[in-house]
Amino acid sequence: MSAVKKHDLVVIGAGPGGYAAAIRAAQLGLNTACVEKDPRLGGTCLRVGCIPSKALLESSEKYAEARHGLAEHGVKVTGAELDLPAMMARKDGIVAALTDGIAGLFKANKVTRYEGAARLDGPGRVLVGDLELLADRIIVATGSSAASLPNVDLDGARIGDSTAALAWPAVPERLTASAIPRRPWPGPRCRSA
Ligand SMILES: Cc1cc2nc3c(=O)[nH]c(=O)nc-3n(C[C@H](O)[C@H](O)[C@H](O)COP(=O)(O)OP(=O)(O)OC[C@H]3O[C@@H](n4cnc5c(N)ncnc54)[C@H](O)[C@@H]3O)c2cc1C
Repeated sequence: MSAVKKHDLVVIGAGPGGYAAAIRAAQLGLNTACVEKDPRLGGTCLRVGCIPSKALLESSEKYAEARHGLAEHGVKVTGAELDLPAMMARKDGIVAALTDGIAGLFKANKVTRYEGAARLDGPGRVLVGDLELLADRIIVATGSSAASLPNVDLDGARIGDSTAALAWPAVPERLTASAIPRRPWPGPRCRSA
């Protein structure tokens, strides 16, 4: 074990649950640390969930409106084209700004950030690689991950989860979306678009 650090509170996971808890605890005077395994803070929501999907949705809506929604307003648009790389670059820029924003909030509120996968190692003990964190309180805010279909290989190209879909380099001509509750297992609910 190379180092031991002591904190009042260690939060594991820097998604909306974890970063909000860490910042508030620090504001209330606790010596707070947050461990996040991803280099970027913000969790699913900021990195690969709510924010990038809504950024692409907004861009898609503008494209659809330019193509189909302006004529009734008496606005003629010809030659409207989708520039997917530009759309993706805007999305990536928004994600970068917001995840950097969480890093800024950590700094401003004196939340100590540790990068790496945390492991509980007994009461009040968290391991992050060679580092040992001792804490009076621990909050586990590790979120969830996408469920897979049995016997289906998520290759990321033809079949992928939402994270893969947010980075596809081309718009699929046809898409089937499946939302699967983790438990119980009634079979997938699918919708084609
Ligand atoms: C495509 C998509 C769109 C969505 N859109 C919306 C929306 O519009 N509105 C909405 O309300 N919700 C939306 N959600 C859901 C929302 O993203 C989640 O509800 C929210 O992110 C959950 O926050 P959390 O902090 O609990 O977990 P997460 O955001 O998943 O954060 C958990 C963090 O813990 C980290 N972690 C996990 N294990 C460890 C470990 N051992 N050590 C260190 N770090 C660890 C992970 O890397 C992650 O950063 C969407 C989700 C997806 C996938």
